[in-house]
Amino acid sequence: MVTVLHAAGTRPRSSVPQDSKDADAEPLPPGYRLIGGWGDGEPGPRQSPNFGPRRDGAQPDMVVIHYTAMKSAYAACDVLCDPASEVSAHYLIDETGHVTALVPEALRAWHAGAGRWGAVTDVNSHSIGIELANDGFSPFAASQMDALTDLLKGIRARWDIRPERVIGHSDMAPGRKIDPGPRFDWRRLALEGLAVWPDDGEAETGRFIPLMRAFGYTADVSDDLLLSAFRLRFRPHQSGPLDRRDAFMIMDLAKRFPVDVNAAWA
Ligand SMILES: [Zn+2]
Repeated sequence: MVTVLHAAGTRPRSSVPQDSKDADAEPLPPGYRLIGGWGDGEPGPRQSPNFGPRRDGAQPDMVVIHYTAMKSAYAACDVLCDPASEVSAHYLIDETGHVTALVPEALRAWHAGAGRWGAVTDVNSHSIGIELANDGFSPFAASQMDALTDLLKGIRARWDIRPERVIGHSDMAPGRKIDPGPRFDWRRLALEGLAVWPDDGEAETGRFIPLMRAFGYTADVSDDLLLSAFRLRFRPHQSGPLDRRDAFMIMDLAKRFPVDVNAAWA
């Protein structure tokens, strides 16, 4: 697979810059540790050159979860470390649960792009980005999810991040992104206190959109795209028009986890 990558024009592994000036100048934050290299015979940890300072003094108060939509973690790692790609993430977790730290948490990785969550429009400055190696169709392996939960526990210990601010790329960029997709187990993360999950019930549908915005879905997209983003995460097998269960679930989420804790949601 590496051979294929090189033929496609990405850089050989040995030429990936490991010592960018900016990275040298920035000490690791307290409690941060380099989690690992890339298996036998590979130097580690890998380091992506694709980062900058967090803007306006922002600190991480969100986590954005992605999948790579590539054939292998090797391929994804090469892209995330290629200066020409201009994309990165703080962590990449491969299919076996091996975690690679690519950008220090204190710095701004380039994973989120255009979109918003609540009042946050520069999501990269406010978030830690985690890429899960996944082709976009396969289930996430148990060992990969175990590694993710361990990593999230560590991140939450280092930064003040509420569980409702652990979101998917599709939540902040509805209509543009669909990762981590319908197979990602949000319910499991919620059971471990690392994300949120709504109670079930039925309610009137009339306030669905304002409640979506109160929970955090503030991206400027159509109502249909908002419903699609909601269902991708919370009701991945549901189709058809907005119904009373959608309405109850977002009411419950907005009530318990308003994105702006000072907002009057009701
Ligand atoms: Zn993504």
